[in-house]
Amino acid sequence: MKKTVLVSGGAGFIGSHVTVELIEAGYDVVVADNFSNCDTTCFEGVKKITGREDIPLVKMDFCDAAAVDKLFDGYPIDAVIHFAAYKAVGESVAKPVMYYKNNLQSFLNVLEAAEKHGGCNVLFSSSATVYGEPDELPVTEKSPRQPATSPYGNTKQICEDILSDTVKASSGAIKGIALRYFNPIGAHPSALIGELPRGVPNNLVPFITQTAIGKRECLSIFGNDYPTPDGTCQRDYIDIVDLAKAHVYAVTRMVEGKMKKDYEIFNIGTGRPVSVLELVNAFEKVNGIKLNYKFAPRREGDVTAIWADPTLANEEMGWKAGRSVEETLAAAWAWERHLAGK
Ligand code: UDP
Repeated sequence: MKKTVLVSGGAGFIGSHVTVELIEAGYDVVVADNFSNCDTTCFEGVKKITGREDIPLVKMDFCDAAAVDKLFDGYPIDAVIHFAAYKAVGESVAKPVMYYKNNLQSFLNVLEAAEKHGGCNVLFSSSATVYGEPDELPVTEKSPRQPATSPYGNTKQICEDILSDTVKASSGAIKGIALRYFNPIGAHPSALIGELPRGVPNNLVPFITQTAIGKRECLSIFGNDYPTPDGTCQRDYIDIVDLAKAHVYAVTRMVEGKMKKDYEIFNIGTGRPVSVLELVNAFEKVNGIKLNYKFAPRREGDVTAIWADPTLANEEMGWKAGRSVEETLAAAWAWERHLAGK
């Protein structure tokens, strides 16, 4: 029997890539989204890539408890992947109440509905932001979490704790996995889905591709005086399709009863540090483009360097990042050109 996965926030950047991989792996997927931070572009792309016109799409807000409950009534949900959340660090500092209300309430509603319906497998999309400025690199799942530096980061920590506590109290009815993403970048090789930031991008790769296409004049590299080999920050950039596949491994682990504990945490990264300058150089080289960039002051809140030790996900789930940074940056550029109709 086919298993059904509910993907909250399934029309967004990560959600749409995960939906494709789940369908290709043989799952039925229900996509639910309130379209507060995306339009239907990626959902349409998902249908084209998978050749499936019949993917259920529910337009709803996960802060609406009755609507979430109805969703669980309406579909035989074996697992939920919860993406529906606000994600802009700076905005969360300016609007903490909005962030705590949305990100916590929506997740609580999912868990409440799961409890009411006799349990469920719950995959929470967490972030490497929970490690803050790490004392040792690379970070493993055992590395301590640091106090969050933004309300956004705090919602990720709190939701991890809520899931852990809920699993513990459920006597096995609710199982949970938190995937801590490093820096997801790139786009599907079809160039039919990708990142669609609203307004000026905060993240590095959309800023690079928008500069390359001429939408932005110049990329500012925030800080070149960090204690790193070339002075710019180091991150673990993980290909979006590789990251999406990690969700299929995690869901399968849950629905097939292969978990070692009822609540598990995995780092989802490559294990490879790449500096901002290295990323810019790789983008230029693989796409044959000269990028207009300048060095600018450090951005407040940025950590110097962080990358994953992905051994646990490699060994326990059998998942491993596969694509090179070059392939990923070529895909990101193809997506930007697709958007521009070029
Ligand atoms: N960055 C940059 N210029 C930009 C956007 C980001 O130099 O316009 C740098 C940022 O300082 C960080 C890295 O790129 O070192 C990754 O930033 P991003 O916002 O993509 O992800 P984060 O690691 O903050 O989650």
